[in-house]
Amino acid sequence: MTGTGSEIWFSDSYDEARSRILQMAGQTGCSATSISHPLGTAEQPLALDVIRCGSPDAPLRLLLSSGLHGVESPPGSAAQLAFLDRLQRTPLPKTVQVTILHALNPWGWVHSRRMDDRNVDSNRNFLLPGEYYEGAQETYRKIDCFLNPKRSGSWPGQFSLMAAVLVLRYGYGNIQKAITTGQYEFEQGLFFGGREPNWTTAQLQSLIPELTRTTRRACHLDFHTGIGEYGRGQLFVDHPLNSCTRDWMAETYPADALDSLPTESEPPYRARGSFSKWFFEKSTAAETLSCCAEFGTLSSLKMLNILIRENTAYHCDGIDSARRRTLRAELEDSFCPKDPVWRRAVLEQSEQLIWRAIDRMSAWG
Ligand SMILES: [Zn+2]
Repeated sequence: MTGTGSEIWFSDSYDEARSRILQMAGQTGCSATSISHPLGTAEQPLALDVIRCGSPDAPLRLLLSSGLHGVESPPGSAAQLAFLDRLQRTPLPKTVQVTILHALNPWGWVHSRRMDDRNVDSNRNFLLPGEYYEGAQETYRKIDCFLNPKRSGSWPGQFSLMAAVLVLRYGYGNIQKAITTGQYEFEQGLFFGGREPNWTTAQLQSLIPELTRTTRRACHLDFHTGIGEYGRGQLFVDHPLNSCTRDWMAETYPADALDSLPTESEPPYRARGSFSKWFFEKSTAAETLSCCAEFGTLSSLKMLNILIRENTAYHCDGIDSARRRTLRAELEDSFCPKDPVWRRAVLEQSEQLIWRAIDRMSAWG
């Protein structure tokens, strides 16, 4: 914990965040259950913690999840801690309950990896019935040697030049789509969606139907960082919206907090295997809205640069190699800047997203 303003909710480590969220849950009268991760040990426990606040009979449920991409965990965890802090002074409406999913990828947080222990990008792993863990965009195959070099540290000074050549050859839009859609062919590559449901997906497969069974309306905010303008939060929705949910969202959030809202026929954001799209399909609530709450840090080119270098060092040099340790620190700072101004901006916007949802849940439909 560092700082003097709202940035105190940012924790310096997974262990610190976990102990704070469990302690705060106890102080606010919320119940907590923990799902242990198989790679946890006595010295380094790893768990997904589920914290339930408000009446279990309340028909409206807000879900707040953090840490699907391990290294992106601290801001989402801080938002959850700040929510619990405010809950001590601001009770929930009787019709609303809030469930916190803290550290969806605890191994990734402890090791500062975006992926899980098998290099699986969990936000590409939630495939729906009829989808298969196979395939890659043709452009991804063509630029595999750029995204996933076989030797670390081989071309750091040439990155921008190589990127420019590839953009000229394949087009920026094609490259962006090829990368962000996810791929199921290159096991050590970036945005690898896995061969089967991973640990995180398996836990949520049993948890989400249980959490939404008696719920009339479910709103889900999944916290991420690394996309968008520095310090600016945006909601991304990649499932169809009906007119009722669409109107509720437009009235609940200012236009600048929303990425373009999808229509029923054409969601704008097309990652395969995303948690939010899967949540929308698996929720048994009568109405469901699932959003990715993204907070920008560095430019997309800088983010791609550090992701490539860290991933290559991890696979070529090893998780505890000197090169990877240096890049680990850079990766942490790229996804969660230490800048107190950035941290305060993220927390302020997160608090608004969360409490606007709570205040307006009963006006939904
Ligand atoms: Zn993310």
